[in-house]
Amino acid sequence: MTILALEIGATRLAAIEIADGVGSDRVQEIPVPRQGAWGKVRELLLHIAAGREVTAVGIASSGPIDMSSGVVAPAQVQEWQAGFPLVESVQKLFPAASVAMALDGVCLSLAERHFGATREVMDSLSIQLSETVFGGVMVGGFVVVGRTGNAGQIGHVLVPGHDGPCGCGGRGCLESVAGAPALTAWARQQGWGGDTVADLAADAQAGDRIAVAALERAGAAVGRAIASVAALLDIDRVVVSGPIATAGSGLWKPLHSAVAMHARLPFLPGLRVVPSELADLGLLAGAGVIALTSQNEDPRTAQ
Ligand SMILES: [Zn+2]
Repeated sequence: MTILALEIGATRLAAIEIADGVGSDRVQEIPVPRQGAWGKVRELLLHIAAGREVTAVGIASSGPIDMSSGVVAPAQVQEWQAGFPLVESVQKLFPAASVAMALDGVCLSLAERHFGATREVMDSLSIQLSETVFGGVMVGGFVVVGRTGNAGQIGHVLVPGHDGPCGCGGRGCLESVAGAPALTAWARQQGWGGDTVADLAADAQAGDRIAVAALERAGAAVGRAIASVAALLDIDRVVVSGPIATAGSGLWKPLHSAVAMHARLPFLPGLRVVPSELADLGLLAGAGVIALTSQNEDPRTAQ
């Protein structure tokens, strides 16, 4: 019985076997290639399967996705822009397996619920700040999937005071303030000389004035978006992951200040916003959860 998890992430393609004792050192990953993405995904999966019969595969994919057809069109994979039948392709590769797919944010939310910071709450929001900004919402203990599978796009919640262009075609979205490209571009405009958000986080830690200001700007925006969503859905726990959201990052103080300023309804004082403990395993862990769930629901394997 071999179970695989696959991540079609914003910057990487990654896969791992889901089994007891398998940890992050067993993740196989490559940067999202300019071309030949399916060939690379296929190689990753076959490498991990190592000739064994695969019984289930769970897939976490960047959006947009179409849940009903299993087709994905993530922005970072150019050749898939017209829609790529990912579920069908994986199914052909492993005909005996049950194959299930969900949005990256849905998988993140499932991972935090099963293994992370939202284990003991029923109503939560899980956010990842990386190349894109995405998330998943859990209400009453159930992850919100949405009509087409794309619910939870916290990155495209509007933030007051911002009007910059967003990759979605709109303006003023959270991603256009707190996504890695926006964050580093803003810092460079102010005279910062670094390149990546990891550099930015390190420079902020070292006291670089512009890097600190960049994280303050992003933290305030994230806090405002969180306050809006918490009020809308009566959320009591929010977990934030990604390279600028590690514990101790300069993101947290402005984030907490914004939440304290804006989340003032009488049911919100218990709202807690915490860093994730799942490092970069969130999507794969969530994909593992849906693989196990789909296997249990599959009539071919149900007893
Ligand atoms: Zn947007």
